[in-house]
Amino acid sequence: MNASSSLFTGCEVVIVTGASSGIGAATVVRLAHRGVRKFCLTGRNEQGLQKTKDAVIREATKDAQFVDVLGDLTETQTIENIVGETIKMFGKIDILINNAGWVFGLLPIFDQTIDNFQQTFDLNVKAVVILTKLCLPYLRESKGSVINVSSTGSVRNFDKFAFYCMSKTALDMFTKCLATEEGKNGIRVNSVNPGFVDTGIHERCGMPRSAVDEAVENCRNTHAVGRSGTTEEIANMIAFIASKECSFVTGNITMVDGGLNCTNPLW
Ligand code: NDP
Repeated sequence: MNASSSLFTGCEVVIVTGASSGIGAATVVRLAHRGVRKFCLTGRNEQGLQKTKDAVIREATKDAQFVDVLGDLTETQTIENIVGETIKMFGKIDILINNAGWVFGLLPIFDQTIDNFQQTFDLNVKAVVILTKLCLPYLRESKGSVINVSSTGSVRNFDKFAFYCMSKTALDMFTKCLATEEGKNGIRVNSVNPGFVDTGIHERCGMPRSAVDEAVENCRNTHAVGRSGTTEEIANMIAFIASKECSFVTGNITMVDGGLNCTNPLW
């Protein structure tokens, strides 16, 4: 354990949703590097969760303890299990990272279905609200922290991503409202908003590989830094905001997007 691990002393128990791949998996490994040892990992893909645990053991520490909760976050029972299993195993919750998210139907609004609208908001907004509410009593006790993984899409519109962008805008407002309400109770609430990261989510959500490759190539122009991001770059910011280094940071909507939010949309 290195010196930076003290930045998480007293903040040992972390819940990460969507920990089976991409940004969530990288965040678990980064937090383990920085000294966190007690994790509740959630997702639907059991093999993915195992891969994340293997990566922690291989790259960070053999001392980490894990609770896995498998299940769909749009089912309230899954959310209740996450809180129940974490408390049963560790007795407290210090940090909640609401990372799981999805794009339902990559279509223009004209062709979109209301079912896609409902599913988008059920996962990207409603599940976050329910899980966070259930965690709040424990977070008040621990003077803990919430980090919501949003998107540049919360502030910039992208064709065929309307419902997704709308859901992330709602998530950002949840972050700000909760931050002001819970600040006096010692809870910090922040958002990390990634730009384009080729985690596989775009393909899994229905974008052909050729279109993903084109989008990665277009990052030369769409992102001020001239490239797409990596999962580690997003995880670094999540771990930083979760740490005591950011004890005066709350209600913050943090773009980690290589400048995507401020480049010319006509490029
Ligand atoms: P991944 O597909 O790698 O991760 C998404 C995670 O969400 C998976 O672990 C998945 O778990 C979980 N998940 C999805 N649907 C459900 C569900 N119904 N119930 C439970 N878990 C679910 O993609 P990313 O790492 O890229 O995405 C992580 C976050 O980052 C998302 O919120 C996304 O919106 C956001 N983001 C990503 C960007 C990018 O370019 N990659 C850009 C901006 C924001 P499982 O498969 O095990 O169910």
